[in-house]
Amino acid sequence: MTALQQAADTASAAAFARAQQVIPGGVNSPVRAFRSVGGTPRFIARAQGPYLYDLDGHELVDLICSWGPMLLGHAHPEVIGAVTAAAQHGTSYGAPTTAEVDLAAAIVERTPVEMVRLVNSGTEATMSVLRLARGITGRDKIVKFAGCYHGHVDALLASAGSGVATLAIPGTPGVTEATTADTIVVEYNDRAAVREAFATYGDQIACLISEAACGNMGVVPPGEEDGVGFNRFLADLCHEHGALFISDEVMTGFRVTASGQFGIDGVEPDLMTFGKVMGGGFPAAAFGGRAELMHSLAPVGGVYQAGTLSGNPVATAAGLTTLRLATPEVYAHVDRAAALLQREVAAALSAAGVPHVIQAAGNLFSVFFVGEDVDAVADYATASTQVTTRYAAFFHSMLDSGVYLPPSAYEGWFLSSAHDDAALDRVVSALPAAAAAAAGAEA
Ligand SMILES: *Cc1c(COP(=O)(O)O)cnc(C)c1O
Repeated sequence: MTALQQAADTASAAAFARAQQVIPGGVNSPVRAFRSVGGTPRFIARAQGPYLYDLDGHELVDLICSWGPMLLGHAHPEVIGAVTAAAQHGTSYGAPTTAEVDLAAAIVERTPVEMVRLVNSGTEATMSVLRLARGITGRDKIVKFAGCYHGHVDALLASAGSGVATLAIPGTPGVTEATTADTIVVEYNDRAAVREAFATYGDQIACLISEAACGNMGVVPPGEEDGVGFNRFLADLCHEHGALFISDEVMTGFRVTASGQFGIDGVEPDLMTFGKVMGGGFPAAAFGGRAELMHSLAPVGGVYQAGTLSGNPVATAAGLTTLRLATPEVYAHVDRAAALLQREVAAALSAAGVPHVIQAAGNLFSVFFVGEDVDAVADYATASTQVTTRYAAFFHSMLDSGVYLPPSAYEGWFLSSAHDDAALDRVVSALPAAAAAAAGAEA
């Protein structure tokens, strides 16, 4: 029997065939489709604690945690209890509730922001925050970094043009040149390039948006130079030029630290975005900042922003309960589990002779299958030198052993407080075979 026939025999393969008839590529978000690792995506029937269960009954240790949100593991009884109780009182009113105020207050308590507006997705948060920054400053241009992902906002789906500090080009068909003409894309951690962008366009730049630590090209932490962290450098440069510094913490916020913020060296960003963990597995996100800035939003100020389902009671209950349960012990557990896996992955890959770099931002880490000559990944240009065939072989071997890794070499690995010794042991015992598979893959 060929591998193809075998695949067609699984319930996931049958579901995927049906899905492709009615959903483009069979998935509602591209990375789920396994395009970059090959093979058929597993369709998930249910999840509990650290495990996903696919349609064929395989139990998989989940190392993506819904790409971040499931900090407490799947189907946490208290989160499910809160969601069930909320749903019994109605699922959306289109009118204010005290639970929304509690969630906003919980975010304000834990982070440098003074006020937040709740929205439904990280994309909506970054889209809205750009509009707010432009509305406040009366300027059009924005600066972003290559390899930072801020959701599928048109202006942020832009690639670097030729040369530093040139205007960006559309990153996908459907985004117009006019849209990206106001976006400047530079390499992450490249201070000279950021300086040049501000030297050229300083008085036209509304804001610079950056992930607090990059988690969407693999994990690339902000670098230090002469004792000054990259985020501090960015904030200072923005302020010299009258631009706003936006820290996108949709991925890092509440996942890496209880304080909701990461790696900003005591810098208070002008504006911040949150999502993922703060929604507890439901569509909830937020953007916030100083009251004086947030008061530019309608109905107080003139910058329009709205949402039918924003702050909906079910998502709000999930988010509030998750933040309440995200104690220092939760972060300590996830930190320990992440440190253990990093050590074990490094040992297995080294033993098999597979060149690699492992980088972390707190408990968020990723494994870069780069060449022997690379000892650190500071930017997207370097991340792109990965030998992705090695990752694909590693990924499929892990999957065969019951471990669900991100189906892309450019993603972080996510853990939860539910990842106990049994789940971690399964990951660790799967590593030698996966490392051998990576070693055997053609570069
Ligand atoms: C996931 C992510 C987003 C987009 O959030 P969605 O909820 O998927 O729209 C934005 N910024 C960062 C840093 C992210 O990781």
